Amino acid sequence: MRKIINHMPFSSPPYMNDVLPYPSPGNNWLHSGRWRWVEYRFRRVCRCYGYREIRTPILELTDLFVRSVGEGTDIVSKEMFNLVDRGGRRLSLKPEGTAPVVRAIIEHELLAAHPLLKLYYIGQTFRNERGQKGRYRQHQQLGVEAFGSADPALDAEVIELAVRFFREIGITDQQLQINSVGCPNCRPAYREGLKKWVKPFLSEMCGDCKTRYEVNPLRMLDCKVPHDVEILSGAPKLLDWLCEDCREHFNSLRRHLEAMSVPYQIAPQLVRGFDYYTKTAFEITSGVLGSQNALGGGGRYDGLVEDCGGPATPGIGFGLGMERCLIAMESLGIEIEPEDEAPTVFLVALGESARSAAVRLLTEIRSAGIAADMDYVGKGLKAQMRLADKLKAPLVLLIGENELKGGVVSFRNMQTSQQEMIPQGEVIRRIQSWAKN
Ligand SMILES: [Zn+2]
Ligand SMILES: [Zn+2]
Repeated sequence: MRKIINHMPFSSPPYMNDVLPYPSPGNNWLHSGRWRWVEYRFRRVCRCYGYREIRTPILELTDLFVRSVGEGTDIVSKEMFNLVDRGGRRLSLKPEGTAPVVRAIIEHELLAAHPLLKLYYIGQTFRNERGQKGRYRQHQQLGVEAFGSADPALDAEVIELAVRFFREIGITDQQLQINSVGCPNCRPAYREGLKKWVKPFLSEMCGDCKTRYEVNPLRMLDCKVPHDVEILSGAPKLLDWLCEDCREHFNSLRRHLEAMSVPYQIAPQLVRGFDYYTKTAFEITSGVLGSQNALGGGGRYDGLVEDCGGPATPGIGFGLGMERCLIAMESLGIEIEPEDEAPTVFLVALGESARSAAVRLLTEIRSAGIAADMDYVGKGLKAQMRLADKLKAPLVLLIGENELKGGVVSFRNMQTSQQEMIPQGEVIRRIQSWAKN
């Protein structure tokens, strides 16, 4: 082992994680193999439901989020990482995944060719907020968005997809909460009704709620301050103020979920953090996560495409946090076998001329698509075997002076400890037939 002599001058930015190539005790969830394992299952579920992948840049014009997420939200008013480029454009690291997708489908006119457009994405999002376990300034979001239909059956599909995904990765401890946040026809009356009801209590409520009262009254329902929660538990419920259309949509969603045997609870306080939601809002939580218990959530956003400059198009989606999923899996003790990155074959060479033969053989094996490696540090047999052991390579090929002279290699199966000499020309075939068994 090489000693690190200098002091480490840098660490990762606060509340941003490195995802590492090896598991580490207590932080297994930061093993890249686990991330791939979860991503693979997410892609597989999306594929099953007919969703296609979209990737958007990590930066967007700041105005996109001001317009879509809303100026009055915490995200836009204080949590974005902003910068100005050399052309004087105001840009932001994306704080959420939906608005960039909406921007992209409008720009590329995808809706014209695909009136029902079902998309998924896996990407990094950024929020400059107070960090804690399960709440990071950079986090990976996995999400789906479906455009072009106002049918509540599509809401049910998106919700069921989310529930299934969590089940696929072993999180059976999950609770689904649904609500309706109404539409531009019924929400304004509720907003006024809520304000009127809250007014006599406003002086005892927290500072944030006093601001929300003016800017975005519905967000008061999201408040976590216990005294405010207690006051607001008596507030009028949006569900009682829905217009005919919104009420029918909500009832129909419930019927679909019941038909799919997806258990749910109605959560009248659930409003989610964004301005753009209409009708369906939902959240999936897990008790194992503690105070940051949301695994993911989403909702319908029927006005968003139009607000962003596109044709009037209904839409619904959800996003979930990769880190929360992994932490929940670890808390639940879910054992998974991340994809093995160990080499299949490890080459050991003794002596300079054997070494160049080994390098040639290594290249041939790799060209055949077999994972193979050798030691570039250790010189002696013991050191090289130690590395083979550490890498857990199931096969070791040994070339020394004798093997070189005979045009053979020693082929060692590390699991059975059997060793035999085989002609160099047969090495690849032998590895392949070993792999089949
Ligand atoms: Zn309505
Ligand atoms: Zn409050």
